Amino acid sequence: MPFTAKVITTDEWGAKSAGSFDKTVPKFIVIHNTDNQNPPNDVSQGTVDGGKKLARQIQEDHMNRNSWRDSGHNFLNTTGGIILEGRHGTLDAVRKGMCIKSAHAAQQGNRLAGGNQSPGIENEGNFMTFKMGQKQWDSLVELCVSLCESCNINPKNIRGHREFSNTDCPGDWLFSQLPRLRQEVADKLDIHLEQGEGLLKLDSIGQDVIELQQKLTDKGFSPGAIDGDFGENTKQAVIAFQRSVGLTADGIVGTDTRKALGL
Ligand SMILES: [Zn+2]
Repeated sequence: MPFTAKVITTDEWGAKSAGSFDKTVPKFIVIHNTDNQNPPNDVSQGTVDGGKKLARQIQEDHMNRNSWRDSGHNFLNTTGGIILEGRHGTLDAVRKGMCIKSAHAAQQGNRLAGGNQSPGIENEGNFMTFKMGQKQWDSLVELCVSLCESCNINPKNIRGHREFSNTDCPGDWLFSQLPRLRQEVADKLDIHLEQGEGLLKLDSIGQDVIELQQKLTDKGFSPGAIDGDFGENTKQAVIAFQRSVGLTADGIVGTDTRKALGL
């Protein structure tokens, strides 16, 4: 299925022009909150014109205050469930299964890598305790479904900004809802989400992989970059470690390997 979510383009909301940006192959969808006021004081007031105004405000802020060349995110999802393009070229790229390199989720410290190479969705509001309304939730699900489809992203890779950078974003409440978001997106795509059975193996992604990579590094079995992505290098490091302690060398981290590593 192609990208079907309805998105207001940068031309339509009157974005300031910006140059072109590199295209990347996305692995994640990164969820943010704009940290703007919540209803009834939301900037967009749930309207199309209000959404365009908010998109212009954010671009202005990102270009002036952050000195970025354009909006830092790829999509904006307003309280009214209106979706607007962020960084120029995003819509064109995702329709072709790619992403425009952005500036919304730089890797900081021992966190996941690849945020800026993946579509970032800003959700209007502050979701530390405030719960997102149904319209905004529905459009977020719809956008994620389209992105997973067109960019071949597994719904398990819908992640929060705080997993990449040193930030509270997207807020405690919204972060706590990401398992529900992944499940709803997977259901619409008819994809079976593998539940975490405690095993870390090839293609596992997340904070527990970062902790594993750190332990392997500390013990002299380098998995390459500490990026939270269990790839071939991590597998080989696990196998080498397992051999060194006399465990079955299958590259899968279960209870025994965890114990031996001190995880
Ligand atoms: Zn964020």
